[in-house]
Amino acid sequence: MKIIVWIEARNGQIKAPSLEALGSARNLAESGSGEVIGVICGPSGAKAAHSASTAGAHRIIIRDGESLNDAIADGIADELVAIFREESADMVICAATSTGKEVIALTAGTLGTSVAADCTSITRREDVIEIERPIYAGKALMQQKICQFPALVSIRPNYGERLEREAATVIEQAATTGSSVRRTGFKRGTVGKIDLAEAEIIVSGGRGLKDPANFVLLEELAELLQAAVGASRAVVDAGWRPHSDQVGQTGKTVSPKLYIAVGISGAIQHLAGMSSSRTIVAINKDPNAPIFKVATYGVVGDLFEVIPRLQAQLKSVLQ
Ligand SMILES: Cc1cc2nc3c(=O)[nH]c(=O)nc-3n(C[C@H](O)[C@H](O)[C@H](O)COP(=O)(O)OP(=O)(O)OC[C@H]3O[C@@H](n4cnc5c(N)ncnc54)[C@H](O)[C@@H]3O)c2cc1C
Repeated sequence: MKIIVWIEARNGQIKAPSLEALGSARNLAESGSGEVIGVICGPSGAKAAHSASTAGAHRIIIRDGESLNDAIADGIADELVAIFREESADMVICAATSTGKEVIALTAGTLGTSVAADCTSITRREDVIEIERPIYAGKALMQQKICQFPALVSIRPNYGERLEREAATVIEQAATTGSSVRRTGFKRGTVGKIDLAEAEIIVSGGRGLKDPANFVLLEELAELLQAAVGASRAVVDAGWRPHSDQVGQTGKTVSPKLYIAVGISGAIQHLAGMSSSRTIVAINKDPNAPIFKVATYGVVGDLFEVIPRLQAQLKSVLQ
């Protein structure tokens, strides 16, 4: 089984979920005979390939050319399709980041197939791929078997497995397709230092913080934990935080290793975006708040007392 993995990189920096996608692909390859071919598109590919070379690929193909300068999904998908056909591959895997979701959908469209999207588990039994993915806004997990190829799969960030394997052979090639889509401008968004959708730790705040200025408490906590800051829709609608911070049904779906919900009630629309987090810590003064139903650990208390104490404890441990 030949598996193509799109490795997402910007300015030579690999997006961490791509390393997990490579690990998942390698596990599939090793549970039968198989080869993993990593694909990096665009400039600075050699630098990116160097960082990804031991993450599970047998070969890494770098494609560069004018059509790939802007990292636009159309151009990347065209190259993936070209490589898929040249290699007579069976699968394409990528991380379900915002660009990854677009790239895999466009690739599937051209190959005339569908995508098993946002998978939280992927295994192989002989020539059948078994996947698991959340449905109904995270209220249920669907198990599916993929028996027909080509199979296209995106893997939810923080759900793949990072591996360390022998270094891949790196091959540099010129882009073979010429996407007609060009970027005409670039406006920097309000995304914080760490991208919410890919963060390993998120500290998220809700209306319980009472005032936008009090988010400084969460920002300090996030800095200590090297975490991203998220928010409920209530505080986004109130203009306390930008929409790019919103977690939930009408915001971002996140799956960090640790999600700390502070002063968030846990409305179903909020849970839809974060309930697949590995560990959930809820801090809320109301013992009946619905967030406690999904929390791994719950602290019933006033956040204005709990957060400073948590910070002091963390400082003594981490600094
Ligand atoms: C179509 C639709 C889509 C939606 N999409 C989203 C979405 O994407 N994301 C989202 O978040 N919401 C979404 N909502 C809104 C959602 O229903 C809730 O209104 C919202 O999540 C509530 O935000 P909150 O938990 O911050 O506020 P509240 O529900 O007001 O909760 C505040 C919490 O803070 C606690 N608290 C107060 N003071 C303290 C204190 N001092 N210490 C500790 N705890 C304290 C309270 O006990 C309470 O539980 C959507 C709603 C609709 C109808």
